This record gives sequence, C-alpha cells and structure tokens, in this order.
Amino acid sequence: MPAVKYTANEENLSFRIPLEREIKKLFREALRISLFRFSFFLFVVSFIQKQRKAYKLRMLRQKEGVNVPPFMIVSVTSSCNLHCSGCFSKVNHAADKPDMSDNELISILHQAEELGTSITLLSGGEPLKRPGLFSITREFPRMLFPLFTNGLLIDNDYIEIFRLQPNLVPIVSLEGTEFETNKRRGRDCSYTVFPSSPEGRVQRLHKSFFAV
Ligand code: SF4
Repeated sequence: MPAVKYTANEENLSFRIPLEREIKKLFREALRISLFRFSFFLFVVSFIQKQRKAYKLRMLRQKEGVNVPPFMIVSVTSSCNLHCSGCFSKVNHAADKPDMSDNELISILHQAEELGTSITLLSGGEPLKRPGLFSITREFPRMLFPLFTNGLLIDNDYIEIFRLQPNLVPIVSLEGTEFETNKRRGRDCSYTVFPSSPEGRVQRLHKSFFAV
C-alpha cells in the first residue's frame, strides 16, 4: 500500500495510520492461516485485492476532503436469545425501537461500498436473530462482515451459510472462563460454545472451515 499523506485536517485523521496498518496486519494473518486450505487461500488472495481497491478509494476520497472510515459497526437487530446482566442493548431499551428495515440496511451497505468502507461489523442484540440477514450479505461479496454472536444459535444451517459466504467471519463472544460466562448469561451455555465439548459450536465451526 502507498504511504498515507494527510493534508489540512491531518490532526483529526492521525488515528487512521495505525488503523489502516492494523487492518493490513489482519489480512496478512488471514493469508497465513489460509495456507491450511488451498480454496480458502485463493479466496483470501482475491479478497485482499478487493480490500486494496477499497483502500485506494478511501485515499482518493481523502484527497477530495472526505474522511472515509475503513470499517463501520451496524447493529442489525436488538432482539436476543439471552438476558445477560449488564447488557448494553437491554439497558438502553433498544428492543423498544424497531430494527432498521432491509431496504435501509441495503442502502447503508451500498453507500459504504461506494465510499470505500470495506469492513462492516454486524452486531446486535444477536445478529443471528435477524431473518434474511444473510440474503443481504450475499449481495456484498467485496465487504468483510465480522459477526459478533453469542454462538448459541449456530446450527448446521448457519455453518453451511458461513461456508458459502467466507467473507462472513463469526466472532463468538465469551465472558471469560466457563464459570464467568455462565454467571453473566444466567444459564449454562458452556456445553454448546466451548471447544472442549464434543458438541461445541466453536469446534464445529473450526472443522467446517479447516476440515481438521
Ligand atoms: S448476548 Fe449480547 S446482546 Fe444478548 S443479552 Fe447478552 S450481552 Fe446482550
């Protein structure tokens, strides 16, 4: 990637240099991990090329005086299957308001792509509670979608979706140890999430991506 040159609003943009550097490191790491599986490696290589194009677009916008962030966070639903203590979404009564419509979400993603934002973090609530979400993400193969999930709803159908849309990257949240996770969530979740268990969803996800 070329060196970043800032102009008049340089001070306000100083956070961008380390951010872009970290994103570059992230993709370098993804490339290293993908060496375990050739088809995944090919996907990562082509995906990095798309990310480079988005980077160039951001730099172009910046020269025009528009500061485009490389990533954004979209809370796609306030609905959730858990009632964790101290949940930010529930404390703010997010569930009292309707979720954004499919058309609004599609429009936001199109606008982001046009500007050069190439990473959208999907959060909630629990994103897997939003019907039709992955029909929408399927239309944006150049966007990276890290997806924050509590992991409990991941079944074979979702694992298949993740396999078909490798730009979806599930990030399973844990609250610390097994004891701490169960305590905060108010129920025993460990047997379905932790990789040490035979039914562990994390373990099944790992197998589906790396076939090990
Ligand atoms: S899983 Fe997340 S969104 Fe759901 S209740 Fe717990 S903290 Fe809140």
